Amino acid sequence: MSLLVQKFGGSSLADLQKLQAVADRVVATRARGHDLVVVVSAMGRTTDELLGMARDVVGAPSRRELDMLLSVGERISMALLSMAIHARGHEAISLTGSQCGIITTHSHSNARIMDVRPFRVQDELEKGHIVIVAGYQGTSYRREVTTLGRGGSDTTAVALAAALGAEACEIYSDVDGVYDADPRVVLDAKQLDTLTHDEMMEMARSGAKVLNEQAVEFARRAGIALYARSTHIAESRGTVVRPDGFDERAADAERGRPIVAVSNINAGLWIQATTSTDAVCRAIEEFDTAVADCSETAVAAFLPTQDLHDVTALTAALRALGPDVEVSSRGLVSAVGQGAGSRLRWLRAANQALRVADLATERTFVMLNRLSWVVAEADVVAAANVIHDTLVKS
Ligand code: ASP
Ligand code: MG
Repeated sequence: MSLLVQKFGGSSLADLQKLQAVADRVVATRARGHDLVVVVSAMGRTTDELLGMARDVVGAPSRRELDMLLSVGERISMALLSMAIHARGHEAISLTGSQCGIITTHSHSNARIMDVRPFRVQDELEKGHIVIVAGYQGTSYRREVTTLGRGGSDTTAVALAAALGAEACEIYSDVDGVYDADPRVVLDAKQLDTLTHDEMMEMARSGAKVLNEQAVEFARRAGIALYARSTHIAESRGTVVRPDGFDERAADAERGRPIVAVSNINAGLWIQATTSTDAVCRAIEEFDTAVADCSETAVAAFLPTQDLHDVTALTAALRALGPDVEVSSRGLVSAVGQGAGSRLRWLRAANQALRVADLATERTFVMLNRLSWVVAEADVVAAANVIHDTLVKS
């Protein structure tokens, strides 16, 4: 029997009625004859609520205890979903990340998966059970409970799909796929049919939240196609993220149109230094930077605020490293596409359009598959629209 891994996001499990609908969907997939592993996120805004509780107790909670707390959100969903499936006359069992053999680094709140030993999952599948897995969590080599960073349930799903040799990995959420810009920011954003893993990774790294970056990285390494679909649309076609380019896209690139999407990060720390460069690099090397440049004479890096636990403390710690260290709040707008950085024509067109719109950019970064502009936070929406109009839509 073919094995499918399906992941349901928090918005698809926001209340018990929605959870029952997911149970119906899982049972229907099962009835089509698939072996099934179902990875769940925490219900609705549970993770944010738990974070809020911790911060009410103590301003800057310990990251270890935070992981203990946040990992509970997914455990609530897995147990309830498993019960709902039992009630429909099917055999299901819920398992935590640790029980599934998800081994991670020790970095609390932002751990990376190092290894997956899914023996327990395989045993349960062999018994004919539907396996419900708590996403977003694992266990470190020191047997500590860890979490994988916001949106990390996607990563759990893809890592399990790879380890189990699944036929496909389907990511269900409230949106019907990946758009060529954030639809809340760019009102005429369009849904994309296909994307390459490289492109999706760049989009995730530069702010797109539909799919988690580490998840896409796993899918790329394992050559697994990812299907991003809507939970609520019965036959949602969604977006397929595949290993490589496609004929129609190759033709587009030949016509000189490499940019497929625009992404944005509304808030981040923009860090620069000219003499304390080594100390600054070292202080931020554990974080995922959206853009960075690090040499002996200059450091420039952008850290998305969303991934930072204590922005105030980090800002103070960086400033204390030397009088040359500058830390300020900025936004980031990016244009993504296979080979985006290989032709200056697109960069020039975008820069010109930004200038005409009177939008100042602080710095531009050119990467293989992405162009990024550091802008004032207040200019993110306008700049994303200008770049979408210039490089994607036209
Ligand atoms: N519950 C976690 C979060 O809100 C993980 C996830 O949803 O994938 O970030
Ligand atoms: Mg999510």
